[in-house]
Amino acid sequence: MLTLHCPYCGVDADETDLHAGGEAHLKREGPGASDVDFEDYLFMRENPKGVYFERWRHAYGCGKWFLAARCTNTLQVFGTYPAQTPEPPQEIKDKISAARPGWSWGNLT
Ligand SMILES: [Zn+2]
Repeated sequence: MLTLHCPYCGVDADETDLHAGGEAHLKREGPGASDVDFEDYLFMRENPKGVYFERWRHAYGCGKWFLAARCTNTLQVFGTYPAQTPEPPQEIKDKISAARPGWSWGNLT
């Protein structure tokens, strides 16, 4: 079972206490965006076999949204951080680089 640490209340929550919210760090498109950019924002997701950044809600706990970095293949969790963080903290990126040399995700490395 997947267990994630909630960065707000400090609880290690089991997957059954959480609600998945999809891919993290999406670039939101405004009213001036082209149809292709808006379509990409709405429908296109990475869906990798490997390192993935995603949104989770501590549904049966504090109720807050947070972000997690994990491997979809092994369920290894590299870390969690508040949802308002614009890009993954350097310590999490360093953990991923140590475990998966040469990884990349979108425009992150
Ligand atoms: Zn919580």
